[in-house]
Amino acid sequence: MISFSSLSLREELTRAVSDMGFETPTPIQQKVIPQLLSQPSDIIGLAQTGTGKTAAFGLPLLHHTDVAQKHVQALVLSPTRELCMQIQEEFKKYGYYMRGLRTTAVYGGVPISGQIREVKAHPQVIVATPGRLIDLLERKALSLDQVKYVVLDEADEMLNMGFREDIEFILKNTPAREFTWLFSATMNNDVRNIAKRFMSKWQEFAVAKENVTNENIDHQYYVTNHHNRFETLRRLLDFAPGIYGIIFTRTKQDCQDIAEKLMKMGYHVSPLHGDMDQKMRSKVMERFKNKSLQCIVATDVAARGIDVNDITHVINYELPDDPEVYTHRSGRTARAGKSGICMSIVTPKEISGIRQVERLSKTRFHKSDIPDGAEIVRKKLFYYLEQIETAKPEADFAKIYQSIIHEKFEDMDKDELIRRLVWLQLKDTMEAYNESEDLNAGYEQRESRSRGNRSNVRLFINIGMKDGISNAEKLLHFITDSTDIEANIIDRITVRDLSSFFNVSGSAAEYIVQTLSAKKYKGRKIRIEEAEQRDRERGGFPTNRSFSRSNDGSGSRQGRGGSQKFNKRYNDK
Ligand code: AMP
Repeated sequence: MISFSSLSLREELTRAVSDMGFETPTPIQQKVIPQLLSQPSDIIGLAQTGTGKTAAFGLPLLHHTDVAQKHVQALVLSPTRELCMQIQEEFKKYGYYMRGLRTTAVYGGVPISGQIREVKAHPQVIVATPGRLIDLLERKALSLDQVKYVVLDEADEMLNMGFREDIEFILKNTPAREFTWLFSATMNNDVRNIAKRFMSKWQEFAVAKENVTNENIDHQYYVTNHHNRFETLRRLLDFAPGIYGIIFTRTKQDCQDIAEKLMKMGYHVSPLHGDMDQKMRSKVMERFKNKSLQCIVATDVAARGIDVNDITHVINYELPDDPEVYTHRSGRTARAGKSGICMSIVTPKEISGIRQVERLSKTRFHKSDIPDGAEIVRKKLFYYLEQIETAKPEADFAKIYQSIIHEKFEDMDKDELIRRLVWLQLKDTMEAYNESEDLNAGYEQRESRSRGNRSNVRLFINIGMKDGISNAEKLLHFITDSTDIEANIIDRITVRDLSSFFNVSGSAAEYIVQTLSAKKYKGRKIRIEEAEQRDRERGGFPTNRSFSRSNDGSGSRQGRGGSQKFNKRYNDK
């Protein structure tokens, strides 16, 4: 088996990677490093985050750096500031024994003055986001005239983010460039065009999409109706008491909203998205890394910089459109030989998206049931019991408090004491899930049939025949198209001249009201409200009672077990 010491890296680098605990080069490192050391050339490396690509280009880059020269010799371009910081941190570790080596990271979102000082202090290696680098070039704070090596890291992502012109500008302004190393998770025309224009006779190295075929990832999906998405997320979180994960959302707004809702409910989470300033994002990352946060709620772009190896769960609040993005997301877990779970919450309509990912990335998904209240309580019970079993109270704790505790409970039976402790721990969860409904899609329809629709809510909507709603089917189409609700949970549709009525299950009603209230039908603003019983009997005249937008009352009830601190142990398998 190849070892780092057989790679002919300079001794300082071999020593540093050994300190870092790297034993065997990863597949991309095995392919790329020997080539770049013995006969440097232009290369394209097709590898994702988590494959060890940073060291694949970083070690050769530092190997070729002449620390006696005090000018910029190597430049790494990367899409985000988080990634820049991460690369710079890795470089610092690799170069720990290289006396005289200076590496600097420059990126947007922080004052430029400090970075101007740093680039003027003669670094040999610069890691940069394209925008900030151009800013520094325009201010003549640094020169790229003697740069010999340029690395484009996550080239596909930089192009996706609209950096094409910036990259081209930078490449044109590196007149002494001899080698360009392009790394990308995917190969597409944009990436190829950059390569064709700026690289000469490159060699391509691809590594199997390790994270996709990574057998250590359990890909699960949960089918629910759209309006139950958040509640499903909450159950999945509660069902994984030791979770250390990333929840992905499609939009910054969702990211913010979901994180806020979870925080209100007592979960240790934080949002991470592009609208947050650099300082806040760094703070969030710090809290996540030291495990004061159990989860980060993140957008894809913001999450790219998260470099954490022991993520237990990735949760897709919604499936991404692009299967490649799914791959990026799921690859956040099960790194460095560990196992992990990637959960996706989908509506029945979105199951085709799951099939698409399965086809394109040769991944097998398992459909899983959304746990009910009893299952969650049971899961938490076992989790808590194991925590008690494995707890190691500090010696001082016993010394100080043992006598007080003993005195207080001397006469209490041991079983009774345990029962009370466990009950205290679980009562919030039991209360929160008392009579919790089945969230698995398809259930509401069965439920409503079996209950003869009694628990349904009847809604009034201010559009009818005069608006072109000639029949129930038309109304149904309008509702399902505008809300992502499944048609099968709507029944008893009555269309009148100026208005209509229909029944939905209680849990869907609020969602429908919220969503449709923001819509128009043929230019007419939708008004939709619950039709009360007496009005229904009178012939469907609506009342003014409408649903409240906020339904966070459950927050304090849910809790995470009072004084129970977030425990980083993961034992959810
Ligand atoms: P990357 O794909 O560059 O983001 O690297 C993913 C993680 O793997 C980083 O935390 C690296 O420090 C780590 N890593 C890279 N190469 C190796 C290796 N050969 N052995 C063990 N860990 C590695």
